[in-house]
Amino acid sequence: MTFEPVRAGVYVHVPFCLRKCLYCDFVSYPALPDEMDAYFTALIREIEIVAAELSNVPVTSVYLGGGTPSVLPIATLCSIVGHIGSAFHLEPHAEISVEINPGTLQETDLEAMVAAGINRLSIGMQSLDDGLLKRLGRVHTAQEAVKCMRAARAAGFANINIDLMFGLPGQSMNHFRQTLDCAIELAPDHISCYSLIVEPTTPLAKQLEEERLSLPDEETELAMYEWAMARLHDAGYNHYEISSWARPGYRCRHNELYWRNGWYRGLGPAAHSHWDGQRWANEPTVEAYCQAIDRGVLPVAERFPLSADDEMDETMFMGLRLLEGVSEETFRARFGRGLKATYGREIERLVRLGLVEYDHGVRLTRKGLFIANQVFAAFLRSP
Ligand code: SF4
Repeated sequence: MTFEPVRAGVYVHVPFCLRKCLYCDFVSYPALPDEMDAYFTALIREIEIVAAELSNVPVTSVYLGGGTPSVLPIATLCSIVGHIGSAFHLEPHAEISVEINPGTLQETDLEAMVAAGINRLSIGMQSLDDGLLKRLGRVHTAQEAVKCMRAARAAGFANINIDLMFGLPGQSMNHFRQTLDCAIELAPDHISCYSLIVEPTTPLAKQLEEERLSLPDEETELAMYEWAMARLHDAGYNHYEISSWARPGYRCRHNELYWRNGWYRGLGPAAHSHWDGQRWANEPTVEAYCQAIDRGVLPVAERFPLSADDEMDETMFMGLRLLEGVSEETFRARFGRGLKATYGREIERLVRLGLVEYDHGVRLTRKGLFIANQVFAAFLRSP
């Protein structure tokens, strides 16, 4: 059955960074002026092509991520947002988020972003410990991160997220407590707190393999997560997704669209899309991306058709990340069949194990939260 999206999102991938962080396996390249110019020209063309296709679809959220969008010249960044605003049918009060890294922007740049209509900022702070930031290969210091947050508020941003990480090499419980206490003092509206995933091809993986660094043990990492849950709850943040906490009214609408398995279009190299029964990925290199746009075609590298079963499984896989889970009502409205009819045996098994609870829908229990990936996997029926 066709699912008519009530809301659609637009994601723009900005694949440039000042320098590669040691743990990162995202698609990003050195921020060279010629490359960024070529990217900008191609991106504007892609915006026009995709917007023409989506002319009647209301867009509720736009997210510029990366990479580091804030390494683009500020006029370029604001111009991208301007083009999106005039090409797509943005809903009034659409959420327009941009990821930035401390140390890459001036105060006047932040003011220009507010004037361009950007209304949500996501600051890649990661830690407020200089030793750990250095170990991760981040380009900024703790002081620059704090300064960036204050400057963003002063420039007029009323909706700010801070990204933090835990389970870092050499990080103690005390380090993490200090970072989180400090971050809370800065009073962001949203905090994303991720445990470090060591991707096999990164320099960090090599350093760990060679035993030049070590990670906190599993127990400590779990204690960090539990402590974050308690501390953020006490500070008035609502834990609404495995790694996300928000003050009332400040959930990230764009990410919620992903977690509800909604439809979105991804623009820029390596961006992914989910639209009308398909997922696809754009060409990963700036060169191949620009060449496709020059030929007047969409820069799609890989396309995957989704069956109704795939869509159902992905709805569970993504939706269970939300602490409210997946409701019977929305699942039935979308797929014409109930959760119990589709996943009855799995749900019963997971309820018996104490990993999910069922009450007009399925949601993770506290125990399930700690081994969420295993729970999600139970809902994937295709290999
Ligand atoms: S800033 Fe982000 S995208 Fe860029 S290298 Fe670091 S982690 Fe990767």
